[in-house]
Amino acid sequence: MPRLTLSTVSKRFDDFQAVDGVSLTIPDGAFLALLGPSGSGKTTVLRLIAGLEVPDGGEILFDETIVAGHGAFLPPEKRGIGMVFQSYALWPTMTVRGNIEFGLKVGGLKPRERAARIEEVLKVVGLAGLGDRRPHELSGGQRQRVALARSLATRPNLILLDEPLANLDAHLREAMLAEFRRIHSLTGSTFVFVTHDQDEAMAVATHVAVMDHGRLEQLATPEELYRKPASPMVARFIGRGRTLPVRVLKSEGGRTRVMLGQQLLDMPGNAPVGYGWLCFHASDLKRVNEGGHLKTELVGQVFQNGSLLSHCLPTEIDGDVVSLPLDERIAPGTPIELVITDGWVIGEGRGTHSNGD
Ligand code: ATP
Repeated sequence: MPRLTLSTVSKRFDDFQAVDGVSLTIPDGAFLALLGPSGSGKTTVLRLIAGLEVPDGGEILFDETIVAGHGAFLPPEKRGIGMVFQSYALWPTMTVRGNIEFGLKVGGLKPRERAARIEEVLKVVGLAGLGDRRPHELSGGQRQRVALARSLATRPNLILLDEPLANLDAHLREAMLAEFRRIHSLTGSTFVFVTHDQDEAMAVATHVAVMDHGRLEQLATPEELYRKPASPMVARFIGRGRTLPVRVLKSEGGRTRVMLGQQLLDMPGNAPVGYGWLCFHASDLKRVNEGGHLKTELVGQVFQNGSLLSHCLPTEIDGDVVSLPLDERIAPGTPIELVITDGWVIGEGRGTHSNGD
């Protein structure tokens, strides 16, 4: 499997900048999720990697080989890529075996090798014994597995998956995510997976690239995205994170002293002196009787997963409710003070590219 590198890759459609100077490198064997809101450019990045779009600027490399950019362009069929689409794109009149064999015939494998390869991939995706069925005789999850088996069969350098679970119900989606993880570790292939669902990305990927407005906000491990967001957008997008504007007084050895309004806080983080953001999650909040960092008002409580989830409206976070478990019934309208026990301070600038270290 090659290392995949994008270097300042851009793509414009008419006067719309769909991809804007994206640079990233993913190691061999990674499971990368391209995550971002609708229209952020994820699918276009995937199509650029596949060779279905030509970049206007920058370059794409598989190891040291330029596949696009600098006047070079390797067509999709020469890139050794397997693609899995949301629609599965199976031939309805062909059997499962026929669907998988199709790509192998194009690849010039002999009949006996093809048969062995088909049985091998059917086993990998958990469909051994279903080779003679036609797509309409399969469930949605099984069809998705056939689509994956078909792309695995040619032993591609890279497997590209475009919202592959979008057509499945929530229960099946979860099961298929576990399947993707298993198949990824079994094959050792590099997977690039497009999704707008952060839970999906965090559950399945070894690395997540968060995109917004055609730009890469951050590339990091799921844990790092959650704990150490590089930009306010990432902080808010991942895990329903919150951000508060702060003034950074000093940052040293991974600790940062900030002023939140009139209060002095010492928090993990890394930011230049000046304006910045304190990023945190609801799980970082604790109720106190007095001296809280956030003054809130209880707007309601619901009993969920064995605890009373309490919706509080902090005056400091414009119109945005934070929900946290409290252990007693409290009347709506009650003032509640919260301390921020943990968080992450960043500068006010845009996102940066971090590698998970
Ligand atoms: P979604 O999650 O909705 O699929 P996305 O993040 O995958 O979104 P893209 O499909 O990459 O986003 O599209 C990025 C932007 O580029 C969108 O505003 C889209 O309308 C535009 N775009 C994509 N393909 C074309 C095209 N062929 N011609 C014109 N505009 C396009």
